[in-house]
Amino acid sequence: MTDPDQKARREAMVDYQVRARGIRSPRVLEAMRQVPREAFVPMDLREFAYDDTALPIAAGQTITQPWIVAMMIEALDLKGGERVLDVGTGSGYAAALLARIAGEVYSIERIGELANQASRALLDQGLVNVELRVGDGSLGWPEAAPFDAIMVAAASPSVPDGLKRQLAIGGRLVIPVGADENAQELVRVTRLGEDAYRREDLADVRFVPLLGEAGWDEARAGPQRGFGRRTTSERDRSLSRRIADVAEGFESVDDLPLAGLLDRIGDSRLVLIGEASHGTSEFYRARQRITRALIEEKGFDFVAIEGDWPDTARIDHYVRHAEYPPSEWTAFARFPTWMWRNEEVRGFVDWLREHNADRAPADRVAFHGLDLYSLYNSIAAVLEYLDDVDPEAAAVARERYGCLTPFEPDPAAYARMSLSPGYAGCETPVVEMLRDLQQRHRQYAEQDGDRFHDAVQNARLVANAEEYYRSMFYGSRSAWNLRDGHMFETLETLLAHHGEGSRGVIWAHNSHVGDARATDMSRRGEFNIGQLCRARFGEAVYSIGFGTDTGTVAAASNWDEPMEIKTLRPALPDSYERLCHETGRAGFLLPLGRGGDPQVRQGLAESRLERAVGVIYRPETERASHYFHAELPRQFDEYVWVDRSRAVTPLDSRALEGAADTYPFGL
Ligand code: SAM
Repeated sequence: MTDPDQKARREAMVDYQVRARGIRSPRVLEAMRQVPREAFVPMDLREFAYDDTALPIAAGQTITQPWIVAMMIEALDLKGGERVLDVGTGSGYAAALLARIAGEVYSIERIGELANQASRALLDQGLVNVELRVGDGSLGWPEAAPFDAIMVAAASPSVPDGLKRQLAIGGRLVIPVGADENAQELVRVTRLGEDAYRREDLADVRFVPLLGEAGWDEARAGPQRGFGRRTTSERDRSLSRRIADVAEGFESVDDLPLAGLLDRIGDSRLVLIGEASHGTSEFYRARQRITRALIEEKGFDFVAIEGDWPDTARIDHYVRHAEYPPSEWTAFARFPTWMWRNEEVRGFVDWLREHNADRAPADRVAFHGLDLYSLYNSIAAVLEYLDDVDPEAAAVARERYGCLTPFEPDPAAYARMSLSPGYAGCETPVVEMLRDLQQRHRQYAEQDGDRFHDAVQNARLVANAEEYYRSMFYGSRSAWNLRDGHMFETLETLLAHHGEGSRGVIWAHNSHVGDARATDMSRRGEFNIGQLCRARFGEAVYSIGFGTDTGTVAAASNWDEPMEIKTLRPALPDSYERLCHETGRAGFLLPLGRGGDPQVRQGLAESRLERAVGVIYRPETERASHYFHAELPRQFDEYVWVDRSRAVTPLDSRALEGAADTYPFGL
């Protein structure tokens, strides 16, 4: 069925996007007028079928921009009736155009799902002269060779020999070639004789990688982006060797060499310790060894983690031997439970309690949470506090927080609701509540400073979380910034609460503690605690990043889904991780700032890929989901490498039976 609107748009596309850019071949222009591009794009993108862009199709792939396909087909110089090979069927659109011009088309796609969809779309168009198969097109289709023309719609590190050899004498091969994911050269190779070829560079283009035996290494690439050097360059090899020479090596994080690191940390007030995933045992264990040394040898006052305030308060009470009645709710019970409820953290918590045992209450090291996901537990904590100290104020608080109560089962509904015209939202009452509490400082704090501080912090969390949930509707940037802004505000409050000159250790993901200005985040307008700390405390901050190559990791496939033990793919070429892996060391500490080796710093200063695994790990789309660009020496002061790592061990609830009522990880 022909939609007259779409037909008009198609005509316009041919005139304004294709002809206007110099495509002159009447065959190509005519084929483009005949083939409805909308039949080859996903249903929900059909209205954009004639826009001047590539569009996403299934399996993370794309349908090429119309004029680029036109240019490629024109470069094949088809006269009609030829036998053509199309590598990278994708949506099948290019195959359909070729089928309109040539005699027979052989089309290969490596992803079965795409091949099936394309096959249906081609048949719907009545194009029966296309033979389609699923396979590795980088090797061509030898049984159907020789071809008069071969078109490759994915970028290869070099022109595959096998494809050249499947050309008929006089045949043309058009293929994007290059290692840069953002720009490749479109190349035409003409077979002049048995062993004679002519190569011409046609244009700069941008394609997805050709993954396969004669293309990019599939094992080291995600299906969306697999660009990189096939072999490590001499420059990288020598940088890896230099890192191996200057780094402080270790075999196991349990024997981390700490003396040099403690020297470099000097008298920093804040030490930010990252992690490259939320589920790697070595990151937790290394972080804890460093933290213990900071507490024992440098007298640090508190640890603050990327966890929620009320849950972490439970740990704080336990490690500081504070007297609180047991609570009715389970701490760290929300997704992702394994992030803090694990054997590694439990070991540290038990150590800290013992460390504090024979110290005066004022000298005990505290344990706090910086995050803001505990809206309703925080409301409950404020009410519980006021019920105790000021029942009248508690009644007012109940009234104010009542505004948020209906949304407890689904905070996202609050975001939607607050967009409705006439709905006043809950901002005013929650902000007033915080202000009221702060103003009663003198009245309440005299009774119990710690409990008052805890209540104010919960009220602050409610106010910031209210704004956070509202902002989620406007996209991830403002929500991210609100969250890291809240974490930083909490950190400043903690420094004030613990007194002048107090010092803290922060445990959060690399993406929070590394300076955002050295990563892709800043281009998106995002900041983080690392950046805010640098700006506010300058040289008094020391930040430590982590990385790993292979092993296992505890992570989910989607939000709110169960934890799985997943296998980490080996690091991609062109990543910092690959460079560290090439050192051949099991693990090392690498100073990047003060005390770092100038040659290594200079070598690492060039932007590279870096991997970040959160509570979710999607190996099947790893490049797009988990890699970003960074400049490591600007991001961190120190980098800790663990070549092979393993997943954290979640707490076994049965093993907790019989633990004291006040035990923070109770049932
Ligand atoms: N010509 C396609 C169209 O009109 O929709 C666009 C193709 S898309 C830019 C590139 C396609 O190449 C993807 O579908 C990808 O899965 C496929 N591909 C990548 N490596 C391949 C290989 N070795 N063999 C076959 N297909 C491959």
